[in-house]
Amino acid sequence: MGFTPGERLESRCTRCKDILGHIIVSMLDGEIAKVECCACGSVHKYYPPAQKKEPKQAKALRVRAGEERSDAVKEKVAKTSRTSSTTAAKKATTTKAGKISAKTAEELQQKWQKAVASNPATPVAYSMTSELFLANLVDHPVFGMGMVIDVFPPNKVDILFEEGIKSLRCQCS
Ligand SMILES: [Zn+2]
Repeated sequence: MGFTPGERLESRCTRCKDILGHIIVSMLDGEIAKVECCACGSVHKYYPPAQKKEPKQAKALRVRAGEERSDAVKEKVAKTSRTSSTTAAKKATTTKAGKISAKTAEELQQKWQKAVASNPATPVAYSMTSELFLANLVDHPVFGMGMVIDVFPPNKVDILFEEGIKSLRCQCS
């Protein structure tokens, strides 16, 4: 800084209501206290011209930030719509796959009805320690009645339930 009285600088003039050349009249605590307007000669408090510009700059910055924000939002929206279109595509695929699996499920259900409903055997209560054999009728606490359609020794079987085939743990050989 280091202004000294008599130095010329720009200040807002309270009378001219403009930024004009002023002469420093007095200093107070290292700051310009009073200035004399070169245009109208009035002596008044020093009003730094930057103060007038600063809010403008700040406003511009805010607008820029806002623009950036709205851009970010736009991008987000675009991303979201991209994602949702991908999701939609995935959904369509899933639906397609769902249709196929629904058909398979229907076939399996028919198979299940034939295998289980017509099975005169007493079902084995399923547990992870149940000993199961191929074509065993199984009573599962969650999936209900099923039939062992595949055996993977030593501890896995595929069981056809009404809702489909489940691979379950068991004791088998
Ligand atoms: Zn003036």
